[in-house]
Amino acid sequence: MAGIAVVFDFDKTIIDLDSDNWVVDELGATDLFNQLLPTMPWNFVMDRMMKELYAQGKTIDDIQEVLRRAPIHPRVVPAIKTAHSLGCDLRIVSDANLFYIETILVHLGIRDCFSEINTNPGYVNEEGRLRIFPFHDFQSSSHGCNLCPPNMCKGMIIERIQASLAKEGKKTMIYLGDGSGDFCPSLKLKDEDYVMPRKNFPVWDLICQNRSLVRAEIHEWNDGEELERVLLKLIETISLQESHSKSTWWLSVDCKMETIPMTAHEALPPALPVNQ
Ligand SMILES: [Mg+2]
Ligand SMILES: [Zn+2]
Repeated sequence: MAGIAVVFDFDKTIIDLDSDNWVVDELGATDLFNQLLPTMPWNFVMDRMMKELYAQGKTIDDIQEVLRRAPIHPRVVPAIKTAHSLGCDLRIVSDANLFYIETILVHLGIRDCFSEINTNPGYVNEEGRLRIFPFHDFQSSSHGCNLCPPNMCKGMIIERIQASLAKEGKKTMIYLGDGSGDFCPSLKLKDEDYVMPRKNFPVWDLICQNRSLVRAEIHEWNDGEELERVLLKLIETISLQESHSKSTWWLSVDCKMETIPMTAHEALPPALPVNQ
């Protein structure tokens, strides 16, 4: 519970589609998007698309209205609320952008469930136009990971989260994702962690092909209903293990503090006789 961090991807993990594609398609700009995509990195295409949509008279309200309609499985919000109420530390690591993610989380009433959102910066400028920037400024330097897109290495973000969790005494991480960008962070997870790849999605394929590289325990899921069931079951299992290891830790402290020497064997209740 207090020792568990749950890290979510956003697109096709929390919501059921890709938010960039959803906005572009719903605002009727798919053709231009497809023309630009081969000419520049995805992240720059999105910023450029926002410029084009602004020029066409599309407002921030229009974009937000589309985002609020983004499809989400009905069990995802209850799953997030339950995990949060159980004391888990929930975080997002996403290659979408802050404006889209916050708009949707606020609309769903779950923004406050998350302690941290790691994503591409996105904000409305003084003209009323949405600007989207890369999380990692790859024009000044590369992040050096060849598994990840130039603007974001989710594995590096996971390593930073792992360092901060270690300081807070949190021990276990559960990571949920669907895309190829979720493979690098899956490789950073430790033996005591859990990865929840979405079945038949790119990260699941990559994990299946490279099982020996993944140290975390793997638990697949298909849809929001399974996401809820698998996630809450894992939280329950980890919590039981935690409370068990805490109680044995106290037992060992008690034994060490005994002034009269007593072996662990003597401290245990006598074994019951068994009929042969
Ligand atoms: Mg995704
Ligand atoms: Zn990476």
